[in-house]
Amino acid sequence: MYKELNPPSRILMGPGPSDVHPRVLKAMAMPLVGHLDPSFLQIMNETMELIRMVFETKNELTLSMSGTGSAGMETVFVNILEPGDKVIIGVNGLFGERMTDVAERCGAEVIRVEAPWGEIIQPEQIKAALEKHAGVKAVAVVHAETSTGALQPLFEISRLVHEHDALFIVDAVTSLGGIKVGIDENEVDACYSGTQKCLSAPPGLSPVTFSKRAQEALAKRTSKVQSWYLDLSMLQNYWGQERFYHHTAPISMNYALREALRLVAEEGLEQTWERHWKFGKALQAGLEAMGLSLHVAEEYRLPQLTSVRIPEGIDEAAVRKQLLEQFGIEIGGGLGALKGKVWRIGLMGYSCQPRNVLLFLSALAQVLE
Ligand code: PLP
Repeated sequence: MYKELNPPSRILMGPGPSDVHPRVLKAMAMPLVGHLDPSFLQIMNETMELIRMVFETKNELTLSMSGTGSAGMETVFVNILEPGDKVIIGVNGLFGERMTDVAERCGAEVIRVEAPWGEIIQPEQIKAALEKHAGVKAVAVVHAETSTGALQPLFEISRLVHEHDALFIVDAVTSLGGIKVGIDENEVDACYSGTQKCLSAPPGLSPVTFSKRAQEALAKRTSKVQSWYLDLSMLQNYWGQERFYHHTAPISMNYALREALRLVAEEGLEQTWERHWKFGKALQAGLEAMGLSLHVAEEYRLPQLTSVRIPEGIDEAAVRKQLLEQFGIEIGGGLGALKGKVWRIGLMGYSCQPRNVLLFLSALAQVLE
């Protein structure tokens, strides 16, 4: 016989997922309705409004994709790119690298602009690439690179992209709800996020938003979007006035997202960012006070994800194991170029609380003793 499900109680302080707010868990336990039920259609409308609030946009084409952040990434690329299109992608970590893979699978010509893991893509690099390659359709960067903890400034790159009549794509999987994304202010044309980081919901949906300029580009496509499931021209008919059946929406996850966004609205978007900055900085100050060194330069350090260099002679996996087993705390190890070199400590959404900062610092001090 299989025993009743009884997962351990953890404090999720890794690169995501983060702890889910109890009100979100409660929302997920609400009775199911059909995906075309009038009450669900109302929930979809309210969720679209709330997604616009957190993205800070008036974009009409704003909805949540059924799937995790990577589904949002694919949605943006498969809809915007057609075979042969040129796209410039900033690669300074794992998720920039993933974007190049997705764009290549769309048949696009990918122009890589690279920076070492932990650094940011400089606007001059994008400018040089735009000047070198004529007719670029889009430029993509990762706002909060979860594999390194680097915060990519958006505005200057956006300005350059639009000077060259291209579309500006941003990955906001780890930034949304933690720091300002400012879709309209930064003139971002296509953006995707995820539910499991600073929004404090489980993984499963990907909020996306597209500007008018991006919608015009979609309307001008001459080939069919290569993915049936992620084709926005059909999804718009489900999320729009027509409410045509497309796929069976994950109802409970949509309940979760609505509640998670309602929590952000209740706290206030700016207050949410302030909380992340305050406790992120406190954690970073505490780590430095312990004599540890942080991988990203202070200027570009994210508050919600901190990468800490592993001190000489320490078995990094053993430390993570002990934190998990003795204190129930999950943190992340390094990926790709940073494998074995850093720990990644998240303070995202509901996990971003002062008690977690204090608990983590004292637990780590004890483990490193
Ligand atoms: N982009 C970034 C910056 C991420 O951090 C992640 C996940 O960690 C993704 C994309 C992919 O999202 P998912 O793992 O939810 O598919």
